[in-house]
Amino acid sequence: MIIAEAPSPNFGPRAAGKTPRLLILHYTDTKTAFEALQILQSKERQVSAHYLVDEAGQATRMVPEEMRAWHAGKSFWEGETDVNSVSIGIEIQNPGHTYGYVRFPEPQVKAVAELCRGIIARHRILANHVLAHSDIAPERKRDPGELFPWHYLSGQGVGLWPKIDEDDKVTPDQEAIVSLLGRYGYDTKIDFKILLTAFQRHFEPEVFEVEDEGIPTRRTIPRLESLVKQKLALRPRAA
Ligand SMILES: [Zn+2]
Repeated sequence: MIIAEAPSPNFGPRAAGKTPRLLILHYTDTKTAFEALQILQSKERQVSAHYLVDEAGQATRMVPEEMRAWHAGKSFWEGETDVNSVSIGIEIQNPGHTYGYVRFPEPQVKAVAELCRGIIARHRILANHVLAHSDIAPERKRDPGELFPWHYLSGQGVGLWPKIDEDDKVTPDQEAIVSLLGRYGYDTKIDFKILLTAFQRHFEPEVFEVEDEGIPTRRTIPRLESLVKQKLALRPRAA
């Protein structure tokens, strides 16, 4: 893959002893990739990402992977709140929910998959550690959103996807769902409906087609159980 270079001034060192173990995917929420590039290079805006991928699949490196880019903001995963220090961030061009959310074009998705596979290999990132910005900041963020092809990417070696059978159905139980969300890594101090919506944006996106997000389905618990089981099987060493 050809990677262009467009350095951002917005980065610093990772916190002492911290190395990348999360991969956070974003959408730009801008009308064009050029506009996103300008924001990510603006000293005033104080934001950045390691990479930007445009609609045609052109990837641009903006911050070296060993440095701490400023993409996550106030966030949480598995107890970690300095997500910028433990992550690589990719911005993916899309007008987002602000300017007319659209499906991600195939060349862009293929480029994201290839870029992610390289990052995952270089930093040995676990599949359960490939996350949406909305997973780590459910109260503030919706990106990359319910149209992002997480299922397809999981088949490309990028991220986890729940494995459930057709007849895998469980009556929803809020307490059980919260417990499973916490075991997977989510911040369970967040309002239930907001938290569940973040989960569904990533792992149960069909609820958005009927505008039923925030309401548990009979698939929610089986999906979460599958994810937690896969996560535990992936854990490389005792915590
Ligand atoms: Zn974001």
